[in-house]
Parts: sequence; structure tokens; C-alpha cells
Amino acid sequence: MTIRERLTSLLGRSGGDHSDDKPDTPKQRALLESSTRRRAGFEDKSGRIDTPLLPEDQRVHLEQDMEWLGADSEDAGRRLQKEAKKTVQTAVEDSVKRVYMFNMGRCPNCNERLAQHLFAAICERCGWTTFEKPRNGPVRVHLQGGNMPIVGSNCYATKDMLVLINDDAVAAQIPRRSVSWVEYVWTPQEKEQRYKQLVAAQEIRCGWCNEPSDPEKEGFSLVQVAFGTTQERYVFCSDPCYEAFRKT
Ligand SMILES: [Zn+2]
Ligand SMILES: [Zn+2]
Repeated sequence: MTIRERLTSLLGRSGGDHSDDKPDTPKQRALLESSTRRRAGFEDKSGRIDTPLLPEDQRVHLEQDMEWLGADSEDAGRRLQKEAKKTVQTAVEDSVKRVYMFNMGRCPNCNERLAQHLFAAICERCGWTTFEKPRNGPVRVHLQGGNMPIVGSNCYATKDMLVLINDDAVAAQIPRRSVSWVEYVWTPQEKEQRYKQLVAAQEIRCGWCNEPSDPEKEGFSLVQVAFGTTQERYVFCSDPCYEAFRKT
């Protein structure tokens, strides 16, 4: 397996969403733990629904719906839970299949060959893209007409809106037609850290001496080399190995 294949296979595992990301802060860790507990709590045989994540107004609606179901509410809860599980099962199988396709370098949407980069994959045929974003932003949304950009920590594009998040809460909903472009601000430090995480996770060997490379070791380097129109990435465990490679 080439370095690029190994890196892209890791990329495939993350698949563009951030479910593989390690929580960085105590707050994120606590959130993750509580959401895992909640998911475990979903297996409620009584048919009652545990809804700590549901927004307040929707919780009120749910209470009204359950009241309407009245004496049958627990039976209905159990039945609906079963149906929801079946739907999730199908969705999970579909998304696992999509990851397999991605790993084979194909667009999960239209089967076309993907243009793959370490932190992004793009289908030029149908426009499907998946990419990493900087963990804590900032994301700058530039508006039509060149006003000051609106800044947040993350943003999501829905069909008609760009939803801008700041500190885990929605800070703005911006109509897509008024958006000129979106800027993801990467610090060089975060980019370097991500490269190193990729390399460490893959236990990639030095491109010259073939020994395991340690991203924390002095002299470690990841370089991009252009061969004609394609770019290859190589990892070197030390300065002497990189120098030896450069002289060839
Ligand atoms: Zn496609
Ligand atoms: Zn080496």
C-alpha cells in the first residue's frame, strides 16, 4: 500500500463527518459522554421517551402528542421505537456502503472517480464533496455586496440557508442567495497537527529507510512532491533521510 493509499484509507474512515474526532476540551468530553449515555438510555423497554436533547418547544409538542395517545401511549412508544430502529438500520447500512465506495475512490452519490486530497474529496461530476474543517473555526461568511463577514465557529449549508454556529448554538441563519463565499480559517499549527495525527494513526514508515516514523521526533517531515500533474506525499523520519531522498 502506498502512503497516499494509507492516508486516503484513513480519510475514508472519517468520511467527512467528525464522528472520529477526539473530544478536545473537558466540555466536549462531557457532552460526548452524556450523549453516549443518552443513546444507551434510548433502549427503554417501557416505550417512554427520554428527550433531553429535544428543543424546548418540540418537547412541549411531544408531551401533547403523548397525551393525545393517552392510555395507548406506551404501546405506541414501543412500536414506534421498533420502527425507528428499522429505519436507522437501513440508514446505517447505506452509510457504511457509502464509506466503502469512498474508500475505493468512488463518489458515493454518482459512482464517478473522486479527486482526493488529504483533507478533502470532491466529485467533479455531481458536486459531492466531503472535507475537514478547522475544529474551532473560525468560519467567515462573506456576504454579497462586500460587507464585513459574519464569523462563527462552524457552519452548515442546508438547501436554502447557511446555518452559522458559535459556541454550540445557532448564531445566524443566512439565506444562501445572500452569501458570496465561505472562508475556513486554518492556522498553520492546526494543519500541521492534523497531518501529524494522520501519520501517527497510520503508523506510516519513513519513505527512505522504511522505519516507523514518529511525528513528534525532531526532523520528522511530510512533504509533497509533484510528478507531472500528480502530487505524492512522503513521510521522512529524520533530516538525513529527507536529504538522502532529495539527492536522488
Ligand atoms: Zn458524484
Ligand atoms: Zn528514515
